[in-house]
Amino acid sequence: MRTAVLTDLHANREALEAVLEHVAGQAVDGYALLGDFVGYGADPGWVVDRVRELVAAGAPAVQGNHDLATVEGASPEMRPEPRQVIEWTRSQLSAEQIAFLARLPARHEAGKVLYVHANAWAPLEWGYILGRMDAMRSLHATRARITFCGHVHEPRLYHLSTTGKAADFVPTPGVPIPLLPQRRWLVIPGSVGQPRDGDPAACYAIHDEAEGSLSFWRVPYDHESAAAKIRAAGLPPALAERLAHGV
Ligand code: ZN
Repeated sequence: MRTAVLTDLHANREALEAVLEHVAGQAVDGYALLGDFVGYGADPGWVVDRVRELVAAGAPAVQGNHDLATVEGASPEMRPEPRQVIEWTRSQLSAEQIAFLARLPARHEAGKVLYVHANAWAPLEWGYILGRMDAMRSLHATRARITFCGHVHEPRLYHLSTTGKAADFVPTPGVPIPLLPQRRWLVIPGSVGQPRDGDPAACYAIHDEAEGSLSFWRVPYDHESAAAKIRAAGLPPALAERLAHGV
């Protein structure tokens, strides 16, 4: 079973199209989707429809903080920019698309694998995994051998040995990493629609369960078009600008 794990799509159609095309050449059996399907980008409806199709075909999907914020709607105490993005995103979605986001679960466990948006200790409190301490906290909060998380928009891999020794590294794209069975793993594939590690290329990962390996991928895409649509929609220009720099 080979699974393409995608997270933080953020309504970026151009990035998602490029990733789906790349995945099509990788002989995968299915997808897993870790949330934040909307927010920031200019194509929330298109992205939600692709996600719905993948879910209808059997892909597990969990809810991200931007999905929940879109379902709940803006509140008066929010700063003007996030409020504008949430209101605009809601205006682009049908009642069925919003209902789909509302129904997404906080976590999905499949055998030895846990899929969650932010972390395993309190998925809907949205704490970030920013280092080994956070990663250990998450690994200790689940019995799953492998946890896949989104939320942090930079690819990263953490592991924990049987003696409790933790380590982490920044993966090299396209190089398969053996997931040694005696260790426990926390995988952050990085963001499809808004990478933040200085490289504008979209991120995703492929988990090969039979082989016990993981590959991270970077997929260059037409970020100029995605940015032009954000500007044309009247969304905050900084959201367009950052796509070119991957920040
Ligand atoms: Zn996100």
